[in-house]
This record gives sequence, structure tokens and C-alpha cells, in this order.
Amino acid sequence: MKLRPAYFAIPIIALLIQPLTLGGDIKKKEEAVASIEKHKAELVGLSDQIWGFAEPALRETRSSKVLADYAEKQGFQVKRGVAGMATAFVASYGQGRPIIGILGEYDALPGISQKAQPVKEALEAGSAGHGCGHNLFGAASLGAAVAIKELIAGGKLKGTIRFYGTPAEESIGGKIYMARDGLFKDLDVCMAWHPDDKTRADVDSTQAIVDFIVEFKGKAAHAAADPWNGRSAVAALEFFTTGINRMREFVKPTVRMHYVIQKGGDVPNVVPEYARVWCWLRDSKRTGVEELLSRARKIAEGAALMAGVESKLTVQSGDYEMLANLAGAKLIHANMTWLGPIQYTSEEQEFAKAIQRATDVEPKGLNGAVQPLEPPKKDPEGGSTDVGDVSWIVPTLHLSVTTAPEGAPWHAWPVVACGGMSIGHKGLAYAAKALAATMVDLFEDEKTRETIQAEFKEKSKGELYKPYVPDGPPPLPKN
Ligand SMILES: [Zn+2]
Repeated sequence: MKLRPAYFAIPIIALLIQPLTLGGDIKKKEEAVASIEKHKAELVGLSDQIWGFAEPALRETRSSKVLADYAEKQGFQVKRGVAGMATAFVASYGQGRPIIGILGEYDALPGISQKAQPVKEALEAGSAGHGCGHNLFGAASLGAAVAIKELIAGGKLKGTIRFYGTPAEESIGGKIYMARDGLFKDLDVCMAWHPDDKTRADVDSTQAIVDFIVEFKGKAAHAAADPWNGRSAVAALEFFTTGINRMREFVKPTVRMHYVIQKGGDVPNVVPEYARVWCWLRDSKRTGVEELLSRARKIAEGAALMAGVESKLTVQSGDYEMLANLAGAKLIHANMTWLGPIQYTSEEQEFAKAIQRATDVEPKGLNGAVQPLEPPKKDPEGGSTDVGDVSWIVPTLHLSVTTAPEGAPWHAWPVVACGGMSIGHKGLAYAAKALAATMVDLFEDEKTRETIQAEFKEKSKGELYKPYVPDGPPPLPKN
């Protein structure tokens, strides 16, 4: 496999150990922090409302509305329904360069409704819940944008702040459609954060992924009376999954392959005419995913050939791996160090430990310390995000903030529980402050911006951004 030389051309360690230069004025950062404190009750209110709505991907009607309405009330110019999604919006304030973007998410996950308590109990059985903390994500990012807006309005910063309301991170990847429509391309730098069980400036990438469907079409017949007239789509599906599972042995350890069978016939006495499998393939880089996809295509064709049926593979979506920016991470880390750790009360630690005991993980409580900045790992941990796509268009700086107990299951009830009470609220406020303080530097310090942009150019050199989504409008759910 060809390695992208750009990754090795950057003297990573040198970037991390250079003395830090905080170009931004400390007074302005203090003002940004004070603005977040001033608006904290409103921001927590927005987050709690979104937590309560718990609307899954592309159904975030009320969640996106409360955020867009708040931005409008704060004087932002708001464009709703962008990139063909009713729940996507862009809120802008100021004029001219630099243009700094900030991403906000607000979609929930189906089936994990939970009360804000350390005992597993659904708020509304069978409903969605904020198991990835996106209620905090959207509100904190908007809070940071409002703090910057106030500095611009006061004549203390020059340029444009732009908040992106980005829906459906957990399904089709709203940012990919926004990227395809060119909504990020004029940014100087973009910022994002994510709820986590640790607080840090992110230097690690995320996995690239492709999401596709394979359909098989055969011929129905009586399974006992005249099976020779039939051709089974399910037989082809079984050949396909067998092929994928055999392939597991001959892929790199960084690869993850998972699928669900969505349609596998109706009754045993009819030779199944139609079968459908939904498949996700991941690897550390897009190039690796491309190779897996071409192998999966051949397996689908081979399976169809063996079963005497037809096959069709449709790519639905996919994320790029995150292009981490080390100069940006250094800037974030310096600002987090300036802010200091998140402090918790003994009640909050007890809440977290009760969750850890209930989920069989070590009851260590919450970790609000700012993690040291370390060199990036060669390969990312499991997981993908559509922020990765944005990171290939503009330099994207990413941070993580503690909003849940260390080691407790993610995309699950503990994250929902903490996101609806003071532990999540503290993470929200901290994230907003870290983002706003870092943005003060980005607005004020042209040299830092140039360093960040130079690293981005070097790392993305020679790659043409090509989103995995098909042409046409996003696949919106039918109501
Ligand atoms: Zn998430």
C-alpha cells in the first residue's frame, strides 16, 4: 500500500515541543469566558431542551429551531434549511476575513432514552436519547460563537464568526452534504469539539468509513414443488456474507467490517426473490476503505454469479478520516491549560461512580484534568465522524471535553444521564470557553493561522476531496 508521504514530512515532535505562542489578548479571552458565564443559564436551557426533545437524525426539527432562534436573537444572520436539509442551518455574524467556522450537532440516538439519574431507567421507553451528548455539542459551540460575536460587536475582534448547525451526524452525515454544497470552502479555520470521558486537544485521526447496501434479485418458486424454477436471493446473500467474513483474515488489523441483514426472504416455502444487506467498512484512511470497497464489489458479483441472481451495490454515505492539525492542537492545549481542569463536586463524583459500578467499570469517577499533549497514534481508535470530511476542506481543530464517567459505555444510557444534569452542563460551559479562547487567538494571530493552514496544505496535498454521498438531495425520512 502506498503511504501518503505528507504524513511523514511534518516533524511531529518538533511541532509539539515548540514554545507556545498565544497571540491573542488575555483580556479578550477573559471577556469571552465572562460572556459564556453570563449566558450560561440560557445555554444550559438550550441543551436541556434538546436533551428532552431527543430527536434522531434528520428529525431534529425542534432542536435545530431552538438553536437557530437563539442565534437570530443574538444578532446572527441565520440561513435555515441549507444543503437540502430542513434541520441544517448556518448562522453568521460580522464581515470580512478571517472567517472562522464552528460546528454544532444536535441529533439523538434511537432507543436509548434515559432519565438524568445514575440508575438505568428510560425517560420514555423505546424513545431516543442523547447517548453521544450532541445536545451539549450544539449548545456549547453556539455559546462560543456568541462570545466571539460580542467581541466583534464591541470592535475588539475583526472578521466573521460562522456557526454551522449540522444535522444527522449519526446517520447520513449532514456535514457531507453541506461540504458537497461548498458551505465550508471559504473558511480560514473550522473548530469542533465532542463530548468525551476525557478533556484534551485532539491530535488523533478517526476512521474512514464507507456505508453501502447490497441487494440481490432472484426468482421466486415453490421451495418444494418446483425449486428448479427458482433462484434464491438469500443464497447469494449468504455467499456474500461468507465472502466478507473470509476476507476478514486477509485485511489489516486496522480494518473493521460490520453488516446487518435487512431482508432475507419471507417464508421458507417460497424461494426468496429479494435479499438485502447493509454493510459498513472502515479503515484508518480513505485509501484503505476504497480498496475494501472494490473487494466487496467483487464479492457481491461473485455471490450473484454463484447463486444465478443479480446483484446491485449502492454506496449511501461515508466519512473521510480526520485530518488532525497539530499546530491547532497545540493552540487548543495552551488555552485549555490556561482555563485549568474541570472541577467536580463530591455529589457529581458519586453520581459518576454509581454509573461506573452499574456498568461494571472501575469506579474512578470523572476525569476533568487537561490531558497532556502527546504525539498522534499511527492509527486511530474505532469510530468515524463526518467532521472528517470538513477537515479535508479547511483546517479543522478539534477538542474533547469530559461530560461522562471515565470508561463507562458510550452511545448508551450513562452518557444520556450525565448530559441532562450538572456533569454535562459543566462540560458544555468548559467546551464553550476552550473554543472561544482558542478562537480569540485565531482571530487575532495571523501567524498562527498561517502555521495551521500550512500544515493543512502539506497534509492534504494531492488529494481531491470527493464525498461518498450520491448525487441528488439527501435521503430524507418519509414522514
Ligand atoms: Zn457524537
